[in-house]
Amino acid sequence: MELVIDPATLVLRTEAADQTKTLARAIAPLCEPGDVLLLVGDLGAGKTTFAQGFGAALGITEAITSPTFTLVREYAVQGPAASSRVGPVDRAGDVDGHRSRVRTLVHADVYRLDRLHEIADLGLGELVDDDGVALVEWGDVAEPILGGSLAITLVAAVDHDDHRLITVRSVGTAWSSRWAALQSALSPWQTAQ
Ligand code: ADP
Ligand code: MG
Repeated sequence: MELVIDPATLVLRTEAADQTKTLARAIAPLCEPGDVLLLVGDLGAGKTTFAQGFGAALGITEAITSPTFTLVREYAVQGPAASSRVGPVDRAGDVDGHRSRVRTLVHADVYRLDRLHEIADLGLGELVDDDGVALVEWGDVAEPILGGSLAITLVAAVDHDDHRLITVRSVGTAWSSRWAALQSALSPWQTAQ
């Protein structure tokens, strides 16, 4: 049977948590204010790990964790002061933070919410309106109810504990003009299909 893969879906594989963070760092500089990225996957799949790499790329130094009681957290993106740090990792993050127009990272973990209206009630759309990007950890099949622009699904590989299959799917047209750049940025993790 032939496997048909939607051309607007990238199929990636990481082999360690750090690689998932690096993959997230590669996506961050392409994000624009108003983007909502849905992170879909079971507990332990690596959604928060992705958020940590993404936040680091924006120069956020606060620890990004899975909040137990707070469903939504906001992080201010660091200003130019952070650029004095050296080293390839920090420097890369600062450059990303500088060039990006994104000033706020909204991190939501709605894994435990099972009703769509509860998610809608969080008002994420308003939070990201002006200058923010939202990462929404979700345990279920992604639906574009949040105006989500990119759905990222993480699945633990059956053959290795530290491997994850990650699919990146664009929803709607928000990423059409950025898709080629995204594909190129993620090529190190692309699997042979
Ligand atoms: P989630 O937020 O989806 O519940 P977390 O990111 O909190 O998941 O946890 C993922 C766990 O799996 C972490 O302990 C992380 O170190 C580990 N892990 C192992 N390999 C990977 C990988 N390739 N990508 C992401 N996480 C990984
Ligand atoms: Mg989590």
